[in-house]
Amino acid sequence: MHPVGAYARTSEDKALRANAAVWREIGEQVADQFEDMENVATDLNVTITHRYNDNNTPASNPRIVRRDFEQMLVDLENGTIRGILFYHADRLVRQEYDAARINRLFQLNPGYLGRAVVGGTDLSTQEGRTMLTIQATMGGMEAYNTKRRVARKNKGLAERGHMHGAARPFGWAEDRQTLHDSEAEELRKAILAIPDGLTVGGVRKQWIALGYEPTRNKKVSGTQNLQHSAVESRLVNPRVCGYRTYLPQAERRGGKRPWMPDFVVYKDGRPVMGDWEAVVSPQEWQACVATIEERKKARKEVRAAHTTSVKYLLSGIARCGKCSFPLMSNQYSRGTTSYERYGYRYACLTTLGGCGGVTRVGPPMEDLVEDAFLLEVRRSLGVVAKKEDIDETKHDVRLAEILQEIEEVNERRRAKRISMGTALDVIEDLEGEREELYRHRRQLVATKVRRQSVTPSLPEEWKSYTIPEKKTLLRASIRAVMVHPAGRGKRFDPSLIKVVWIEDKR
Ligand SMILES: [Zn+2]
Repeated sequence: MHPVGAYARTSEDKALRANAAVWREIGEQVADQFEDMENVATDLNVTITHRYNDNNTPASNPRIVRRDFEQMLVDLENGTIRGILFYHADRLVRQEYDAARINRLFQLNPGYLGRAVVGGTDLSTQEGRTMLTIQATMGGMEAYNTKRRVARKNKGLAERGHMHGAARPFGWAEDRQTLHDSEAEELRKAILAIPDGLTVGGVRKQWIALGYEPTRNKKVSGTQNLQHSAVESRLVNPRVCGYRTYLPQAERRGGKRPWMPDFVVYKDGRPVMGDWEAVVSPQEWQACVATIEERKKARKEVRAAHTTSVKYLLSGIARCGKCSFPLMSNQYSRGTTSYERYGYRYACLTTLGGCGGVTRVGPPMEDLVEDAFLLEVRRSLGVVAKKEDIDETKHDVRLAEILQEIEEVNERRRAKRISMGTALDVIEDLEGEREELYRHRRQLVATKVRRQSVTPSLPEEWKSYTIPEKKTLLRASIRAVMVHPAGRGKRFDPSLIKVVWIEDKR
């Protein structure tokens, strides 16, 4: 058996002292250091027989005696322990004099073990001892060390369920622990209603009606409304079921709201619980998160399906007038009159994340849009000689900027200033915008070409075109077809269908 001592120390911490509620946390921080050292001891096959705890004792003040540190030197001297473990060199010594005393003992006893958990200090080597002296001497290390300690402390606090200095979370009182009288109940109701079909947009409406405001960015934007993403992040925040989260600094940059369910803190495979009152149970929270994730995924699939779907003329073009969700083509049930007469309809489907508020019979809607389109074509034939001011190069400046921005993000990532995940988020957003601009550019070109040459024969040839061909032409002129809700069983009403033209200035 190789008996060693474990030395832990924290200096008095202003941030912690300022917050009486977490004052007791300091001892637990020492506990963290001991825990890490136990792991190292196991790895090195040594046994910690003595613990030295200088909790809340600065090491840089020569007038302050560190009681346990002094005892440890005695124990090393007389062989009670044959080595020491410590979290980092700066926990052990902060003065040249102390470093010299430590180094002397290790020089005299080459078999002693002296290792740090982080920083790589090894006191059994001459290099290690020289490093200890340098670290103790150099005030220049201070900035780096402070940063590292703060990061460790914040992570430690996160694991034990404490916040660090953010605004009061929605749903809790000012103490961040007890529930807010009214907000908590609204939050709970919303989380439970999501799996039953309530959308984030629906929650947002209710909360705006209740007068709830954003907790972030209020100062900046004044009367800014509650954002969709803000509502969503309140609903999916692991905090609501008591789970603690830890968001690394790198993830906080980049502008996009992080998906907090990905940042639950686990210890020994279990989520770490905070010391605040929970709004819902972990199961209820999971059901809400899973529902929202499923809807996001479905929406992505719908988008992909719509852009490639060629079977129905208005898929990807028609949208719900109530919630703007793309309408899906949908067969009527076999045997019904509607099925016999029309075959299919367009519908806003709740199963895919729509509001379910709009369905419209397919063929009459298509006829209407085709008629409107051909009318527009004929009308533009009259003015075609004017060669209207369509400028397909109008996005070129932005396109060049995007290229540059992507390169900048890559540079920041390479310099390790942002994480790969954050970089990909930003890059994907930029690529999305670029795709959108390219598509619009293609539309502009198509519109221009159509007006210049294709147009004269178009109305006559229209009937002979295939659906994909028609669709391509429609897309060149029509941005969307908004279909507004009609009463149940009402006759087809053309005035409820609005064509939104591209470049609607014509
Ligand atoms: Zn809808």
